[in-house]
Amino acid sequence: MELLKTVAEVRRWARERREQKQRIGFVPTMGYLHEGHLALARRARERCDAVIMSIFVNPTQFGPREDFASYPRDLERDLRLAEEVGVDAVFAPEVEEMYPPGYSTYVEVEGVTEVLCGASRPGHFRGVATVVTKLLNIVQPDEAFFGQKDYQQSVVVRRMAADLNIPVEIITVPTVREPDGLALSSRNKYLNEEERRQALCLYRALKLGEEMILSGERRAEAVRQAMVEEISRYPLARIDYVSVNDAETLKPLKEISGRVLLAVAVWIGKTRLIDNLVVEGRRGKD
Ligand code: AMP
Repeated sequence: MELLKTVAEVRRWARERREQKQRIGFVPTMGYLHEGHLALARRARERCDAVIMSIFVNPTQFGPREDFASYPRDLERDLRLAEEVGVDAVFAPEVEEMYPPGYSTYVEVEGVTEVLCGASRPGHFRGVATVVTKLLNIVQPDEAFFGQKDYQQSVVVRRMAADLNIPVEIITVPTVREPDGLALSSRNKYLNEEERRQALCLYRALKLGEEMILSGERRAEAVRQAMVEEISRYPLARIDYVSVNDAETLKPLKEISGRVLLAVAVWIGKTRLIDNLVVEGRRGKD
């Protein structure tokens, strides 16, 4: 496996693969890899001839009071794990390589960024859209892989790639969970033992919402309220948002129909966790 540090090195690596008519799969990450990231890499490995992963904690997607400085990093371990699942190259640039002095260009996606995490983290998706655009321009992959765990992110990236005519296929991979249901996240590292126990409230609330919809509840607010109450039973949990939205447009719903996104963001102590489920709202008793 090759470790690439510069844009020029990645361009050379990708050009050689393209010249050999290889299909390039790209997996962008912020590192501190877990089975969720590895699931993306395995899917890329299955579908593509050459797989490149980026490991870059992107400063522009963090707010000034967020955890950019303390975000967990362990490049050596990440390289070992990436190699084990068959990644061919890792691009791990320094911040200055991506944002040299004088850097001034940002990508803004409207609409789908205005709800959910976009509402509670101003500027977050501007940073995401900017770095993903840059990475896609650098690598020029045939396919790029994103996790359903960050559902809104994958919607934003699809919108952006379509709007900017970026010739890439966006593949979304299902969320990988711990045996008890907690979605894997690099930020789970921040949780102490009691917080880890209470972090299960996100999944519990989502499953409750799903059950209600599948057994015929059509009032989005009733589903939302039940999820809020479930989370409120956990004393260390503080709700950022609990939302019942259209899975395509991300607009909040009044009445359940079609594909429904149940999405939650919850602070457990000082750690903000997100999770979601997509539920088919047409089934049920009517
Ligand atoms: P991150 O390093 O957190 O920016 O995540 C990099 C990629 O991995 C994103 O596309 C995430 O959606 C995806 N990812 C993170 N956690 C999971 C998970 N538990 N299951 C599936 N994909 C995930």
